[in-house]
Amino acid sequence: SGIPYDPDNIFAKILRGDIPCHAVFEDEHTLAFMDVMPQAEGHTLIIPKVPSRNIFDADPTTFMWLMPTVQKIAKAVKKAFHADGVRVIQFNEPAAGQTVFHLHFHVIPVQDGVALKP
Ligand code: 5GP
Repeated sequence: SGIPYDPDNIFAKILRGDIPCHAVFEDEHTLAFMDVMPQAEGHTLIIPKVPSRNIFDADPTTFMWLMPTVQKIAKAVKKAFHADGVRVIQFNEPAAGQTVFHLHFHVIPVQDGVALKP
């Protein structure tokens, strides 16, 4: 996108421990935590620890580390929230609905084809 990474975005602050989150998984390269304004019960976010604004500026190796965690969380969320399925969603740039400018994936459980209300 050409727009520089803002090191003061909210997920950068979470990674630094400057603001709290409800973490559910962490490894060397990734962090998963509950969305503070969930679109459905169990709505979880997965982020890489390396800085990138979104899909446009991320290094391909970022996805190599990130996607196994996305898969792990998709499975865990489906089980924990007794979902029929999950949506894995990802937004890039404000025009597409991105509001936090650190690359992230949403995992949202679905029941009967409808995202659960929180
Ligand atoms: P985006 O639209 O950028 O893909 O989604 C950003 C997500 O981050 C939204 O679902 C929003 O609820 C979530 N979010 C924003 N601020 C915070 C925060 O401080 N903590 C957590 N856990 N989630 C946040």
